[in-house]
Amino acid sequence: MIQVSGYAASGRHSKLKEITFEREPAGDDEVEIDVLFCGICHSDIHQVKNEWGNTVYPCVPGHEVVGRVTRVGSRVTRHQVGDIVGVGCMIDSCRHCAPCQSGDENYCEGPNSWLATYNGPMIPAAKAPGGVNTYGRDNTFGGYSTVLVVKEDFALKIPSGLKPEVAAPILCAGVTTYSPMKHWGVRAGQHVGVIGFGGLGDMAAKIAKAMGASVTVFTSSQDKIGEAGRLGVQVVLEDDEAALAKLKSSFDFMLSTIPEKHDVNQYLPLLKRDKTLVVVGALEPMAEVNNQQVAFHRNSIAGSLIGNLADTQEILDFCAKHQIGPDIQVVPIQDVNHAYKSVEKGEVRFRYVIDMGSLKSEAARDGVKAHEHA
Ligand code: NDP
Repeated sequence: MIQVSGYAASGRHSKLKEITFEREPAGDDEVEIDVLFCGICHSDIHQVKNEWGNTVYPCVPGHEVVGRVTRVGSRVTRHQVGDIVGVGCMIDSCRHCAPCQSGDENYCEGPNSWLATYNGPMIPAAKAPGGVNTYGRDNTFGGYSTVLVVKEDFALKIPSGLKPEVAAPILCAGVTTYSPMKHWGVRAGQHVGVIGFGGLGDMAAKIAKAMGASVTVFTSSQDKIGEAGRLGVQVVLEDDEAALAKLKSSFDFMLSTIPEKHDVNQYLPLLKRDKTLVVVGALEPMAEVNNQQVAFHRNSIAGSLIGNLADTQEILDFCAKHQIGPDIQVVPIQDVNHAYKSVEKGEVRFRYVIDMGSLKSEAARDGVKAHEHA
């Protein structure tokens, strides 16, 4: 077994602190990864606080992981020792259902759906048909840890043109915003609206702009107006009714990244006829929608969940090609609890990324102390 250090929450009100645990060494089709960086997604905070009601404790979050391959199983062909790879939200899927067969692992319809990088199967045994657990584990421990072991096909290649710490948030924030833009056919010359200018919003704006779209960001934060200007995109305050009125029927696609229940009614009139507003931020019941507005313009409101493996590789390569990436603030793991508060207050610009070297140093110091006390 591999001895691993991680940062975990033991309950919904507890802070994250260091724990040690064991991982199985890489199997024939798996790679062992020395974790270098891990992004802090707002989902980590929802999950640690059990805001989706499905958290398994201890909870070691982290699904924006970049690291170096240190060992490969005997049947591994995609990666070699020394490669820099990334792991997003999934580490396995059933591989047999229609979505898996068509390359949409993120919509796996197997009995336990996909296996999340942390917090175990998306459908736990208690809710699965026949109470099965096809992955054989109830909990999984994510990237706030020193070592990760994953199936080789769930490790993505990090292009050499991307710094590992910049690549990390692309594995969730990047693909979660790219996947719906690709699915709904965003293309050059279109007008894209991004609602909520945080970790996902920053990536959505940059990706849409690099696709050749003109981009308008909607924010509730006056102090982010300059940030949008720096990116070369338009910006509107969410409560500026006059500005919203001027944008009536002007958008080909809108993406809401607001992290909780919210009202999209004020944005629906901004869509052109037949166009779609996709909500990725709130994974919970939403405020009532005025279907008159939707019906009169044949609009759609939709949702979208992360992205599949092919799209994840595609957006990593796209970001490298266009030299775009998230704005990041690199922090040591010892600051993670402070970072969570800062994300909740909307202070981060725009993604915290944990330097996992800080955890290795802490683990090494603790090892020395334990040795001295022995
Ligand atoms: P951030 O906290 O980084 O950004 C969210 C932004 O939304 C904030 O910066 C703020 O932007 C705005 N906002 C926050 N609260 C409110 C509010 N009450 N009303 C209006 N605007 C608000 O979060 P992330 O970008 O990391 O994640 C966003 C959401 O997406 C999370 O809920 C996360 O769980 C979810 N998510 C969903 C995925 C999926 O597959 N569907 C995958 C990954 C994440 P501003 O200051 O500009 O108003």
